[in-house]
Amino acid sequence: MTLFIDGEWITTGNTAPVIDPATEEVTGEISLASTADLDRAIAAAVRGGRAWRNTPIADRTRILLKAADLLAARADHVATVMTREQGKPRSEAKGEVLRVAGALRWDAEDARRAYGRIIPSAGDTVLSVRHEPIGPVAAFTPWNFPAGSPMRKLAGALSAGCSIVIKASEETPGTAIEIVKCFAEAGLPAGALNLVFGDPAEVSKHLIAAPEIRLVAFTGSIPVGKLLASQAGAAMKPSLMELGGHAPVIVCADADPVQAARKAVAAKFANAGQVCTSPSRFLVHQKVYAGFVEEFLAATARIKVGNGLDEGVAMGPLANARRLKAMEEFVADAVSRGAKIQTGGERLDRPGFFFAPTVLTDVPGDARVMREEPFGPIAPIVAFDDLDEALKTANELPYGLAAYGFTRSSKTAEKLINGFEAGILSINHCGGSVHEAPSGGVKQSGYGREGGPEGLEAYLVTKRVSHLLVD
Ligand code: NAD
Repeated sequence: MTLFIDGEWITTGNTAPVIDPATEEVTGEISLASTADLDRAIAAAVRGGRAWRNTPIADRTRILLKAADLLAARADHVATVMTREQGKPRSEAKGEVLRVAGALRWDAEDARRAYGRIIPSAGDTVLSVRHEPIGPVAAFTPWNFPAGSPMRKLAGALSAGCSIVIKASEETPGTAIEIVKCFAEAGLPAGALNLVFGDPAEVSKHLIAAPEIRLVAFTGSIPVGKLLASQAGAAMKPSLMELGGHAPVIVCADADPVQAARKAVAAKFANAGQVCTSPSRFLVHQKVYAGFVEEFLAATARIKVGNGLDEGVAMGPLANARRLKAMEEFVADAVSRGAKIQTGGERLDRPGFFFAPTVLTDVPGDARVMREEPFGPIAPIVAFDDLDEALKTANELPYGLAAYGFTRSSKTAEKLINGFEAGILSINHCGGSVHEAPSGGVKQSGYGREGGPEGLEAYLVTKRVSHLLVD
């Protein structure tokens, strides 16, 4: 597997293995970029960015919509590639591919409406506001959504008229390569999109420091986000930081515990819990606690775990051995503090990075799983009797990405909506990603928004023009 620089696929001598998390077998290898490769990608992004920005918007839109059509037409193939390198069930992978094709269409269409304005002004001066592409973007994306994360950056940057150098995850390179093929075949000018892999710390440091790069876009963990944001800050570059969270779910006394539990289980174990917005702390009112836990366990027991390529599998393996070790540590820590394992709690006795869907109750507030993002298939459930206290618990962590509430009362729903410190809220369901609306965090979960008109804004700069008319 190769890098894509200046319109060419390139193989390098330095490689890393790609592993199927369901079998632990090496399925391929990925080329890693040298500093010289990165410099070529930057130079290509400058040239390609100029060509792309000067391409009439109608032609840009046509090329991007064609790339979206190509990707949607290949959804079955790309989904298989994704499942083999990331582990999620093939149906989930296919849904992701189709969703990102839709996201690209949305951004491509929305960019046609990046209107400026003329401001009434005195005398013979024309005062206007224009929006221009910010310039070459450096983007870094993780392994949990091998199509979703890269496409958010690609769709935003390219629709706005920017070029981009993207370092997708070395652990899930095949999906990113398939996406880039679609853009190349659709007619994107050489250099407008460059795909690299390499040592993450070295690549990010080099790209962020390059004066030609004008915006840094990252999705990943909070510690890495802080590092990249500080590097961007030192170079006075804006950055988009889509980081982790630890999403609370508050199930109120008047909620339907059965419906709430079913929806929560479906969201909790999607992608084996490796989702930045995954519901990960369940705070359930005493009155409905027993019914909620009972149905949560019943729905969890119905989840078929296995190789994501197999029919009917609802949860695949974890994406890498690091997550498996992390799950074991979360469970051991919670149990040592008095938590009870209701189901799961251990890795499955088979090859692959499989961890059983796990439900913990009686989890004390100081257990690590209540304070750190588990990013895996562990659901800690605790009871509460006062909604204000539950909201306090929900907000006491330094994160604020997603939050969920279940209630039959519109008044209580408004209390939750106003009370949650989070950037993405869902009431009476666990809403998934939608590209037409903005997503992003508050507090340490990051800044900037992806999706919706707000998502495109990040890739544009505003220019004020005062034009004195002369003969
Ligand atoms: P990690 O922090 O080592 O890496 C997270 C991602 O950042 C990976 O894709 C990695 O390649 C990349 N990365 C690491 N160092 C980098 C650097 N200096 N420059 C650029 N990219 C860099 O952790 P991990 O083991 O891969 O994942 C564990 C944690 O990461 C999870 O617990 C979760 O909190 C977080 N995570 C969040 C998201 C998200 O969507 N927000 C996605 C994946 C992982």
